[in-house]
Amino acid sequence: MAEVLVVVEATAAFGVKKVTLELLTLAREIGSPSAVVLGGPGAAAALTDKLAEYGAEKIYAAESEEIDGYLVAPKATVLAELVRSVSPAAVLLASTQEGKEIAARLAIKLDNGVLTDAVGLDADGTATQVAFAGATIVKSKVTRGLPIVALRPNSVTPVPAPANPAVEPVAVTPAETDKLAKVVDRVAEQKGSRPELTEASVVVAGGRGVASADNFKLVEEVADLLGGAVGASRAAVDSGFYPHQFQVGQTGKTVSPQLYVALGISGAIQHRAGMQTSKTIVAVNKDAEAPIFELADFGVVGDLNKVVPQAADEIRKR
Ligand code: FAD
Repeated sequence: MAEVLVVVEATAAFGVKKVTLELLTLAREIGSPSAVVLGGPGAAAALTDKLAEYGAEKIYAAESEEIDGYLVAPKATVLAELVRSVSPAAVLLASTQEGKEIAARLAIKLDNGVLTDAVGLDADGTATQVAFAGATIVKSKVTRGLPIVALRPNSVTPVPAPANPAVEPVAVTPAETDKLAKVVDRVAEQKGSRPELTEASVVVAGGRGVASADNFKLVEEVADLLGGAVGASRAAVDSGFYPHQFQVGQTGKTVSPQLYVALGISGAIQHRAGMQTSKTIVAVNKDAEAPIFELADFGVVGDLNKVVPQAADEIRKR
């Protein structure tokens, strides 16, 4: 069976990201999954158990200080070399900021097509893809070269399939042009009690209607009761109610959870771009005409300051 390369994403705080486990699950339907770890020395060893648990038949370890110390360019270079040498059936990446940038650079290096923001992929390489800032969902296929596909987190249910992968070191020789942008500082991600926003199966998000930073406690409370992550609209972030890294939307993060709860969010197109592939959407808004209700599966027209505490009480009883 042909190899399918899965580009691994991991963080120090959370280990292998859930989206990588989704990609390994998907890769098994196309061929034989090989995980590609692109990181500093020792990166692969720390991730091997998890990758094996989800069916990686082989692990390519491309490890060097340079891979770790420069931005994505060296990763794309080493990945292109690997694709040339193993001729995989497909390359799967996470449709995250980094995943999309690697995918684009890889496609250019290989003179290949690329599909990003996929929410599904058939065994024949046909991707279901979100296009035009979420306004359209299309079926697409790479017609030049092999499928290079970046998949949005939460598109597939990860299923374990224990394997016993061999770890194969990959030579890393970044070009000089890869070294134009260097990592100068790292801020360690805090592992709080909540799941990571883009990986969470429940997201509870607040907008300008939440009205203050203090009142975001309501949003956090519901998120914690549901075991979810907290998100925010840009208006809420710009008003200083919640930190920028939690912004959902076109210029924020893209989420696709099982459940998205929008509290005091109007549903502007730029916000929808980041959340409209959520499986179930619940909205609370005091304006019955708010566009978020066009999208919502369930909606409550009311003041969130009254509705949310009542909802929290109900959830607590269950
Ligand atoms: P508003 O539109 O002001 O809506 C607040 C809602 O709260 C209203 O519907 C109101 O009825 C309701 N409300 C008020 N009080 C209550 C209450 N007590 N109880 C219940 N409901 C209440 N936005 C994003 O979110 N993410 C992005 O990434 C993003 N990127 C952008 C990029 C560009 C280039 C541009 C131009 C804009 C972008 N925006 C983005 C901004 C976007 O256009 C909207 O301005 C923003 O999403 C509005 O946020 P909001 O819904 O919280 O606020």
